[in-house]
Amino acid sequence: MSPQNLTILGATGSIGVNTLRVVADHPDQYRVFALTAQCSDAPLLQQCREFAPRYAVMTDEAAAARLREGITAAGLATQVLVGAEALAEVASAPEVDCVMAAIVGGAGLLPSLAAAKAGKKVLLANKESLVMAGDLFMRTARDNGALVMPIDSEHNAIFQCLPINERARFEQRPNSGFIKVILTASGGPFRNRAHTELENITPDEACAHPNWVMGRKISVDSATLVNKGLELIEACHLFEVPPSKVEVLVHPQSIVHSMVCYADGSTLAQMGNPDMRTPIAYGMAWPHRMNAGVTPLDLTKCSNLEFYHPDLQRFPGLVLGREAAETGGAAPLIYNAANEIAVAAFLAGRIGFLRIPAIIARVLDQASFPVPRSLDDVLHYDGEARALAARCLP
Ligand code: NAD
Ligand code: MG
Repeated sequence: MSPQNLTILGATGSIGVNTLRVVADHPDQYRVFALTAQCSDAPLLQQCREFAPRYAVMTDEAAAARLREGITAAGLATQVLVGAEALAEVASAPEVDCVMAAIVGGAGLLPSLAAAKAGKKVLLANKESLVMAGDLFMRTARDNGALVMPIDSEHNAIFQCLPINERARFEQRPNSGFIKVILTASGGPFRNRAHTELENITPDEACAHPNWVMGRKISVDSATLVNKGLELIEACHLFEVPPSKVEVLVHPQSIVHSMVCYADGSTLAQMGNPDMRTPIAYGMAWPHRMNAGVTPLDLTKCSNLEFYHPDLQRFPGLVLGREAAETGGAAPLIYNAANEIAVAAFLAGRIGFLRIPAIIARVLDQASFPVPRSLDDVLHYDGEARALAARCLP
């Protein structure tokens, strides 16, 4: 079989780098068509040297100019493109079979959507695009024959625990016996901290996740449990389930990545060491499996697997996410937009940790947008919600 052409959106990030590690182990099966990044030209140049993609895209112009110099000096054939539109181009080019959508935040929506519209196999790590525009995204994928493979570890686990026919179509079958999904949450680094101690958390403390090494934005989301709110909304879209059928349990060991419960009393769980190469390789190889380079689980070292309900008082970010999912319409989009602004301000040292859920709550209270009917609506309300959130900053 000829190798599959792969575009990686967000190649220099944590998911992008892990994807390239998997690709490097399977050079006969995957060829890198395009790699993209925002402004980290030095890591992207290194990746271009190693994987010789046809295109490298940077959204930052100065970084693109530096990359171009580096590519020329190294004598590489990679063509450097600049700008957000070029992201969509390399995600939808006819030569591309498979797109890893791993840009962080709302910036990932348009290129991920372009891949769905072009009928690609979309390996979806960018959960924000589903939270912002889940109906539109899933409809676009269905109408254009795109396969959306969840890469978020929880959703990938759920996908693995569904009957095969539901996996292909993401539909609930009348006789599937499906009852609910259980999303597991590590609880983040502050799972045992008292509320009073959370006030003075620094960005570096918030980004020191106990089980996973991830980008800074998702690390903060994990610490506030907003990540689990985003994931709850993501699950509703991917698996066509109402929020009431998505339960969240804290599981500090991050060994059980999520579960599906059935009418006959069965609970199916997907387990493994916490390493994103597992869901990435699963998504890339599906419906087959391939070596992800991940050490298999040693069950004798997993004797203490705990599960408990999250403390909703200490983590209002999760409550707000569930409420946004239940309200529907523009609420999930507002939740995401306000969170992105608040997290960026927290990472920049402008606001304290506890201000993040406070700002999300305030923006959700203030904003009242009609149900978004089009991509233009989504982008417009997203901009308005971001502006409202920015006004909550000092
Ligand atoms: P990261 O911050 O490590 O990397 C982000 C990538 O996106 C980088 O390549 C960066 O250059 C690019 N980027 C950032 N802003 C951009 C912009 N405005 N325009 C174009 N490109 C931009 O992030 P990550 O941890 O790899 O996460 C990526 C996505 O995957 C997020 O949506 C996250 O929620 C999701 N995810 C990550 C993990 C994980 O383990 N890291 C797990 C599950 C889901
Ligand atoms: Mg996750």
